Amino acid sequence: MGLFGKKNKEKEKCPICGGEMGFFSSELLKDGTICPECAKTLRGIYDVEHWTVERADGTLWQKQYDTLNDLTIEEARQYITAARQEQSEAVAALGQDYSAIFKVEETFTIAPKALDVGLKRSKLLKDKTVVKGLVQAGTFTRDDSVTILHGEQKIETKLLAVYECDGVSDFDTELGANMCKSAKTNCHAWLILEADGAVPGDTIAKK
Ligand SMILES: [Zn+2]
Repeated sequence: MGLFGKKNKEKEKCPICGGEMGFFSSELLKDGTICPECAKTLRGIYDVEHWTVERADGTLWQKQYDTLNDLTIEEARQYITAARQEQSEAVAALGQDYSAIFKVEETFTIAPKALDVGLKRSKLLKDKTVVKGLVQAGTFTRDDSVTILHGEQKIETKLLAVYECDGVSDFDTELGANMCKSAKTNCHAWLILEADGAVPGDTIAKK
């Protein structure tokens, strides 16, 4: 089918959520396309990989590959259905008390170099915990006061930085650019916490 073959067709519906898809606002999987809202949830897990190949003449060739293109619609549906299920359970359990909810999937500590992020930020961010996970409700923004829900324990802390996972930039790139300051529902994001103590499976919540 050519570029103009779809012009007169009715708008396609996303096979996962049923939302309408524009021709240019859909994401290609292995066996079909899904809407950008559904793709957003997969970003952070299925990202664009970048690498460099050296040509025979010694010049460098930047290559990239979108790992979303390897995923089948059925695999995407299973992932998103499970994420939405967890999301509605989290909102049912915490939605009365908190306006924003984040599920921690992985954690790591950072010690960024002054050369990369500036002297002030390198001191501020030294040995801090980064949590990566899914925003299940609301919006998280830099400087927000948040609570780490760690089993029975509650740890009050603050967000030093927030970066949404767009599927293209890795954490170090986002940290170096220091552009994004908020992350919204259904997106994966990196949050830099002032306090220690968060582990995978914890929830970060905001009043
Ligand atoms: Zn969709």
